Amino acid sequence: MSQRNLKDKKLAVETLLAQAGSDWDKRTGAVSVPIYQTATFGHPELGKSTGFDYSRSSNPTRLVLEETLARFEGGVRGFAFASGLAAIDTIFRLFAPGDSVIVTEDLYGGTHRLLEKVIAPYGVRIIPVDTSDINAVHAAMDPSVKGLFVESLTNPMLRVADLPALGKLAKARGLTFIVDNTFLTPLFLKPFDMGADVTVYSATKFLGGHNDVVAGAVVVKDHDIAEKVAFLQNAVGAVLGPQDAWLVLRGLKTLPLRIHRQAENAVRIAAWLAQHPLVKAVHYPGLSTHPGHARLRSMGFGFGGIVSFEVAEGVSVKDLLARVGVFIFAESLGGVESLITYPTVQTHADIDPARRVRFGINDRLVRLSIGIEDAADLIADLEQALESAR
Ligand SMILES: *Cc1c(COP(=O)(O)O)cnc(C)c1O
Repeated sequence: MSQRNLKDKKLAVETLLAQAGSDWDKRTGAVSVPIYQTATFGHPELGKSTGFDYSRSSNPTRLVLEETLARFEGGVRGFAFASGLAAIDTIFRLFAPGDSVIVTEDLYGGTHRLLEKVIAPYGVRIIPVDTSDINAVHAAMDPSVKGLFVESLTNPMLRVADLPALGKLAKARGLTFIVDNTFLTPLFLKPFDMGADVTVYSATKFLGGHNDVVAGAVVVKDHDIAEKVAFLQNAVGAVLGPQDAWLVLRGLKTLPLRIHRQAENAVRIAAWLAQHPLVKAVHYPGLSTHPGHARLRSMGFGFGGIVSFEVAEGVSVKDLLARVGVFIFAESLGGVESLITYPTVQTHADIDPARRVRFGINDRLVRLSIGIEDAADLIADLEQALESAR
């Protein structure tokens, strides 16, 4: 019988994540948490439960993931969902018809579609604002505003929200402050230290990190909201299955190693792109020329692994996408394999073209998700692809 118990130990996140679940199975001492592939759980007798009744409500594999996420972020409770959008959909049910929510204007395309086409018709007013500009947020405030939903780093322009200022405003007005921290993770940004009440993640991205699972996560800072989210998670039922929960847990174990490597590679690639004659503009908050650089440096611990850039006139994006050989032309981000995405026709296709262009997403913009490969291989791949696309 294993007596190991990590619960009450004060551990650094690297230790916490690497050992996630290793103390769960007291009977066998299994180092990797078992995949509890079961829908239901037998009861010892009437009125008694093992703590598990039915896997929509709770499942041990999912619970280990949820407890790990909560401890990682410093919240009271974590929740795992079937996707990032399932997580965001569930969180928006905290609001009632008649409420308004201020949201980042250049949201991830799927979130934009969910809020405009699904949530808004139920009577929750969605107010898109440039949340990197606190004055614009103040100007949009009215008494019906009950929530703020902000992406810590936006996609693909990587605008940086002013979280400390937004946190103060949310506190003063009693708003529920939700941060989609998918692009930075708690390793690079800690929204709870800046007044956020709830964080949401597409765990498909950095948390899972291997382009092998679609998943979502929510972490809540205080008990009141946690109870409401727990109720909604069970009532709505968009939960993560045990196999996928296990994959996310497995991914989390190496997150610190992966994300630091991805960020190191990203800095090198962004700097290389910035001096390239076939590149018109580079967007990466780790470059001192990026408008959000100073702000992210002051509030975070890293700049992430996403870089977008605009090719110069005369370079064909179609050819660029066809000629990359190490980068994979695919949607998504945050995994160990480097991907190249064309926001105009992929991630942001559901956004009105005029609006898209206003955000800087034109048909010469491509987005890179930098993986853990050798940076020189990635640069050589971009070099040959750019040259043959001119
Ligand atoms: C991908 C993504 C989502 C949606 O997550 P899914 O897991 O694809 O449902 C939400 N927000 C951001 C910032 C994302 O990148």
